[in-house]
Amino acid sequence: MELKITNIVAREVLDCRGNPTVQVDVVVNDEILGRADVPAGKSTGAHEAQEVRDGGKRFGGLGVQKAIAGVAEEIAPALRGRRVTDQRALDQALIALDGTPNKARLGANAILGVSLAAARAAAAALRVPLYKYINVNAHVLPVPLLNYINGGKHASNDLEFQEFCIFPVGAETFKEAMEIGWAVYEELRTIIIDKYGKIAANVGDEGGFAPPIVKVREALDNILLAVKRSGYEEKIVYGLDCAATHLYDPETGKYHLEGNLLSTDELLAFYKDLLKSYPIVTIEDPFSEDDVDGFVRATQELGIQIVGDDFFCTNPARIKERAALGAGNALLWKVNQIGTLSEALDAAELAYRHSFGVMVSERSGETEDPIISDLVVGINAGQIKTGAAVRGERTAKYNRLLQIEEELGSCGAYAGGNFKTPF
Ligand code: PEP
Ligand code: MG
Repeated sequence: MELKITNIVAREVLDCRGNPTVQVDVVVNDEILGRADVPAGKSTGAHEAQEVRDGGKRFGGLGVQKAIAGVAEEIAPALRGRRVTDQRALDQALIALDGTPNKARLGANAILGVSLAAARAAAAALRVPLYKYINVNAHVLPVPLLNYINGGKHASNDLEFQEFCIFPVGAETFKEAMEIGWAVYEELRTIIIDKYGKIAANVGDEGGFAPPIVKVREALDNILLAVKRSGYEEKIVYGLDCAATHLYDPETGKYHLEGNLLSTDELLAFYKDLLKSYPIVTIEDPFSEDDVDGFVRATQELGIQIVGDDFFCTNPARIKERAALGAGNALLWKVNQIGTLSEALDAAELAYRHSFGVMVSERSGETEDPIISDLVVGINAGQIKTGAAVRGERTAKYNRLLQIEEELGSCGAYAGGNFKTPF
């Protein structure tokens, strides 16, 4: 029987910040349903595909009724009757219908919702888990980069770097990584309460603590102490997301950090010094989204994984151009930065062809939809970043990975031992 899309319905739901977002249902042969939610970033890159939001007073302008109307009035009529299993053709049709280079007319939020819900519906129709629908050889359980101290745009403190993370590469299984993660998080809570008082144990957008810290080293020292007290020192290395686009001052061409304005050279020296003190193996966006020179030098001189988030925007064209220059050696993979599943898969493929690492990522504005867990296993990326393992919109992803690990059984492989340091 042909598996045809018979209907597409979009609705406005809420993300973890309480902001409106798009949820899409794709119906196949009037009975099979694929549903997907679209996340939203806060520390976004200028080159991301564009969402459509309503403006006006309702929800402070963040409503998505226009995006939803686009699904009902244009996308659904265009895709009804098409084969749901032809993801690439569906995504091409969405891109053509939108007609802009950055999905600004119909909105990347509308388009991505349809693209992901179609993939879910296709997998359901074929009775395979989504990760197997993406790739029959899907089997790698990722190492979670657990974000335990939040700063930057994700927290109401004055810490400039956005994410301070532990990376339990030495766990034997994903399940063990979660156990280690819990132990460190609880130790860190105690340390933070002892040092800064109980109000400091409140958490930021991604579930990490957001204590009143200014200095990068102070944040790292607290995490390292928690790791030491947990007894898991041997199994853990560290990662940062500096989100440096948001520290960059275009007027001076310098970066705000700890009360100073640093040149690219000076910020690079700051990283070099940090690496002498801490076993950091991965740094995301160490420089701003268009500081190609900074990325090239970080890649050459730091000897660790240099991940491009705002820098690549999961955009195949940007990856092609910048990877050829030796700028970065890993891709942060966020499906909503590019707006269709096929283009995101192309971005991952391109990254692999350049021997890049790929780290699948949530957005700070997530929903309970755990789709990235199937996707990270689907592309065998081996690394995922989806916040601390607390709060429903984050645990949804970790819980789905626990299910997948159980489903895969002895066919599954935890990526930890394969993570090379230095990269
Ligand atoms: C990030 O910068 O890596 C991130 C997840 O944040 P946001 O979703 O706010 O861009
Ligand atoms: Mg980032």
